[in-house]
Amino acid sequence: MSTTKKDAPSTCEMERINWIEFREWVPAKIQTVLLPLGTLEPHGVAPNGTDILVPVAMAREIAPRVNAMVAPAVPYGFTGILDAYPGSFTIPEDAFRGYVRAVLAGLAKNKFKNIILLNGHGGGQTAVLSALAQEVGRDTGSRILVVNWWSYCSDVTLDVFGEDGGHGAENETAYVMAIDPTLVQRERYNPQMATALPPPNTWSAYPFPSTIMLYREGEGYPKFDLEKAKTYFTKVNDKIARLIQETIKKWDMAGV
Ligand SMILES: [Zn+2]
Repeated sequence: MSTTKKDAPSTCEMERINWIEFREWVPAKIQTVLLPLGTLEPHGVAPNGTDILVPVAMAREIAPRVNAMVAPAVPYGFTGILDAYPGSFTIPEDAFRGYVRAVLAGLAKNKFKNIILLNGHGGGQTAVLSALAQEVGRDTGSRILVVNWWSYCSDVTLDVFGEDGGHGAENETAYVMAIDPTLVQRERYNPQMATALPPPNTWSAYPFPSTIMLYREGEGYPKFDLEKAKTYFTKVNDKIARLIQETIKKWDMAGV
């Protein structure tokens, strides 16, 4: 039996494949890798690792559709104003930047032409990642896309829930429920746990007084509807798979 006749490797996860099989697939038949990145910080009644669990599930679900491998996640991130809560971590920005730069350079060295960062965490982390994408892309000749799913899919949030979301709010909580409903402890929820994010230059606080941060006053409170959660999971993944496919197609068309 020849492995070259199969249309997929035995696994798309980089920690589960051996070097002999990896060599057969990358870069001859697979040029794309998905890299989930997150952090550990509180999310209302969803897990502290929501920002890790979401992009890992997303990567596994999307990988076959975009003919990609999935790299092991970068779980520790640059957290910010919620790192005072129990079980949270933050990695100093320079250490995070240097570590992620080395991970990206390693993926390029392993001959992935397209490196797709599925980022689960906002705050300062998004700016670090877009700067790194430019730096490493320029240095290595690889093509790098950074996706901040919760912002990119805010239209899906409006479509499925009829209102905007937030950090640890309806959108993130729903995505986690779709992965595993037992990860969300609804019985511990109280709407008083949510605070609307302040408009720029009005107020700021450390630690932020709530672990549920609403993008818009009065919108995004979790409602724990499992059916809607499943629809949301599917629509978010579909939209992100399309973005990846279209971006690669346009890179190819442009010859970059
Ligand atoms: Zn989050």
